[in-house]
Amino acid sequence: MPQYYIKDHHPAIISEEEFQAVQQEIKRRYNMRKDPDGKYRMNYSGKAPFSNKLFCGHCGRPVVRRRLTSQTNGEKYLFSAWQCRVPVGRDPDFKGCNGRYVWEVDLEDCFTELLREMRNNRDEVIADAEQAIADKRLSEKEQARFEELEKQLEAVTNRISDLASREMGSADALYDATLRHLIFEQEILKQEYDALKDKKEGSLYFQKHLEVLLEYLDQLPKRFSDEIFIKTVERGILDRDKKVTFEFKCGIVRKKPVGR
Ligand SMILES: [Zn+2]
Repeated sequence: MPQYYIKDHHPAIISEEEFQAVQQEIKRRYNMRKDPDGKYRMNYSGKAPFSNKLFCGHCGRPVVRRRLTSQTNGEKYLFSAWQCRVPVGRDPDFKGCNGRYVWEVDLEDCFTELLREMRNNRDEVIADAEQAIADKRLSEKEQARFEELEKQLEAVTNRISDLASREMGSADALYDATLRHLIFEQEILKQEYDALKDKKEGSLYFQKHLEVLLEYLDQLPKRFSDEIFIKTVERGILDRDKKVTFEFKCGIVRKKPVGR
């Protein structure tokens, strides 16, 4: 791979601060593409297996685990439930969500039942995943563009290296302007290149995780498995209508009623 950035090379080209700012911007745009509203950004760690995986369908904030008390025939008992962190009061910056809690055991049962259904409809699972894989695969045109961008990036990077290696005074305004222009051009090419690369990698990611899912479906345990949930589900969303949407790592999406 060509070297895209010239760091600590020539103080006049681009300062460390500017370099870091560009890196931040690349990261920001990358995240924007993956999650346009920043709704699903994670910033806490909790308990497995649903921790960091479940989000509120009302407001998009993370769903957290709670220990609640209930009563049957006058006897109190504790149970675990999952609820949006906003109504629980753990997200003071966000207001106005009234997402209800779901029992942990109900979530587990819901997922276990879903896997059973998927095992019984294996062909449909494969067809859906293959559609998702195909949607992410680069078209012929995109693949051609991808290769073209690769060449253009290499060319512009070489020009930057050439210029940077010349022994010229840092006070030379034309020299600086040319380099800045090239670095800007490189940046623009790289944005487009990265978007195509993401797409391409997404297709491979789905493919790999379809194999993982099918292996698990071939030997399903009777009870809920943390491992299967963690390895096959990208994220789950607790929806308004007492349903959970499971987004699988292989690109398929399944929605199922949960709870009592
Ligand atoms: Zn919420």
